[in-house]
Amino acid sequence: MNLKERLSFINDVEYLENENLTSYTTFKLSSIGDLIKVKSLEGLKALMPVLAQNNIPYLVVGWGANQILPAKCNDKIIHLEFTFDLDNLNELKSEYILPASLGLNHLTAHAVKFGLKGWEVFTGIPASLGGAIFMNAGTNLGEIGKLIKSVRLMTTSGEIREEVITENSFSYRHNHFVNPGEIIIDATLTHLGIDDSIPQKIKDYLEYRKKTQPLATKNCGCVFKNPLKELPAGKLIDLLQLKGVGVGELRISPKHGNFMENSGKASWDQFSTLVELINYEMDHFFGIEFELEVKIPYH
Ligand SMILES: Cc1cc2nc3c(=O)[nH]c(=O)nc-3n(C[C@H](O)[C@H](O)[C@H](O)COP(=O)(O)OP(=O)(O)OC[C@H]3O[C@@H](n4cnc5c(N)ncnc54)[C@H](O)[C@@H]3O)c2cc1C
Repeated sequence: MNLKERLSFINDVEYLENENLTSYTTFKLSSIGDLIKVKSLEGLKALMPVLAQNNIPYLVVGWGANQILPAKCNDKIIHLEFTFDLDNLNELKSEYILPASLGLNHLTAHAVKFGLKGWEVFTGIPASLGGAIFMNAGTNLGEIGKLIKSVRLMTTSGEIREEVITENSFSYRHNHFVNPGEIIIDATLTHLGIDDSIPQKIKDYLEYRKKTQPLATKNCGCVFKNPLKELPAGKLIDLLQLKGVGVGELRISPKHGNFMENSGKASWDQFSTLVELINYEMDHFFGIEFELEVKIPYH
């Protein structure tokens, strides 16, 4: 029995071969591959042993806001679409158990409604909760790791494992507990009390981000890691007067040097060419080679 037939027996798992994956990342570079949509915990539990027994490589994509998919994806793409009743966010609680597939935008809306202290860290970060926990996403208002009490993960054999979060569980944009192949399924979040100034703080921060980042475009956030904290990659690209420079339908954002904007159907090749061009100039003028911040499968 082939994989398609095997997966057709699992409830809440949809397997789509040679699917157009372009809309599964925020950058929307053209991409094709096999997609596995998982709509329940039971579905995921049944799926994992099948993938493990058949040595099938896979990659989890949340909102795809920190990932670029190649033109042809060899790994299967797993996308969680767990159902969640948003009415659960209509009332104030001291703790919340939330699914990995929930968007952080819902958490920001909840924080604005009730003035939840600590939850301002979600402001403007495009992410699923699972992707944000994996990346320990954050802004200069703080990072998500500080609000997480525990995380439940699905292991490669289809067991559920609970990780109790400690001060060593996260570091800057990293988690230290998701083992290779494990998938975050949900998390218990807390907050730091009520603070009436939070809604305004969130509004102001959103305005600031809109002014400084090309949020309305198709992009992948910051493309490169900052070589040093005091040497932001965007500033260096700006110094080289590369803002606005482009290849095909891809260009370096005129608003922020560390962002690239896809104005239409930009491709993986155009992305690679633009990265090479930036690195050539960086090496030539500053003797620095940038490291990619955005995740690329197989790199
Ligand atoms: C316009 C823009 C602005 C941004 N601003 C910020 C910012 O201010 N701060 C910041 O920290 N980031 C920022 N980012 C980057 C991005 O939003 C974060 O990295 C975010 O955490 C990615 O979440 P995601 O759901 O899109 O994850 P993805 O990009 O889909 O995945 C990221 C990583 O997490 C893994 N992953 C995803 N879900 C799961 C899961 N359920 N279980 C196990 N592994 C999983 C993936 O395999 C991958 O390795 C920005 C991006 C954009 C496009």
